[in-house]
Amino acid sequence: MSRSRVTVVLSQAPGKHPAKRALEESIVAALLLEPDVEVSVVPNLYDLGPDHTGRLFLGAVKGDMVVLSWLYPRAAFWLLDRCDIKGHFGETQLKPPADDDDADGEADTPVDKPDAIGPSGAIPDRHIYALDLRDSNKYEAFVAEIKRIAAECRDRREAKARERAANSPAIIQLGLSFAKVEDLPAAQQAFAPEALLAPAGRRWYPVIDYSRCTNCLECLDFCLFGVYGVDSIERILVENQDQCKKGCPACSRVCPQQAIIFPEYKSAAIAGADTGAVGGLKIDLSRLFGGDTTDALSAAVQERDRELVNDGRAAVGMAVGIPKRQSDKPAGPKDDLDKLVDDLDNLGL
Ligand code: SF4
Ligand code: SF4
Repeated sequence: MSRSRVTVVLSQAPGKHPAKRALEESIVAALLLEPDVEVSVVPNLYDLGPDHTGRLFLGAVKGDMVVLSWLYPRAAFWLLDRCDIKGHFGETQLKPPADDDDADGEADTPVDKPDAIGPSGAIPDRHIYALDLRDSNKYEAFVAEIKRIAAECRDRREAKARERAANSPAIIQLGLSFAKVEDLPAAQQAFAPEALLAPAGRRWYPVIDYSRCTNCLECLDFCLFGVYGVDSIERILVENQDQCKKGCPACSRVCPQQAIIFPEYKSAAIAGADTGAVGGLKIDLSRLFGGDTTDALSAAVQERDRELVNDGRAAVGMAVGIPKRQSDKPAGPKDDLDKLVDDLDNLGL
């Protein structure tokens, strides 16, 4: 029986940060020696346009996949989903260091799960695991976790093959090997490694987490730059990614479900960290800020007005696209967290 492999794709940090490059190179060098792993390198995932070879390669991967990036796992997973690179969310065991010694045994703040619409279309029978390269500065930690994932994927495939064989004994009699179905597809092998690494210009656009989005369409009403649209069954989607205004996260503050991610925004909550715990650091925001909560809607309106004026258009303030139920919306943990980061920025920390 031929051996099946897990595809690992490492998404490089933008720029040439030496410590980040060193970690990336150490991980790739170690994985090249692993028989159960096929490793490739692409530029920063977030920057890949639809025609970039790295994006086409990712689309050609049909089996289980591990994506290593300098993004929060939630951001990387839904970023891929938007590119029609779908799968089941693979749970990983690599945690930020502070999570390892949860001395007080206190659980992370639970995140309320809204009645979400979920991803569109059929989800293929494979898993996508996203690892955040900021979670450790030791390449060994990533290699160990990838080996664990590869074993988990192999066990899952073998269990399914046994199940299929039990249900279709004739297949065994024909001598077909299930594992061959899982082999690396020719389409995936056709990409030259250097082509995957063609430079990609920096981009800025929102990513929707459909495990949280309830399709309320408030973002569609709020954005005046034509970024959002709906598909044939009236589901929200980011239709014109590159019409979004660089550096602006306004609509993420308006989303009542915290479903809009800007993967490279400075605030961890807007960048896709699970709210309630950031980098393993548990923050009691209500104690930190008392009753002084940020007015998220005002901040969003100011940010939107700034972009309108930069575009040579008139500011609209609260006059356009403000959902009624947002006008008295209390700030959520994301808003508080954003303020915390802004305050730390202002302190020069
Ligand atoms: S505002 Fe948020 S929950 Fe509502 S449709 Fe947009 S992304 Fe989904
Ligand atoms: S950040 Fe601004 S321009 Fe970009 S999608 Fe949101 S509201 Fe539209």
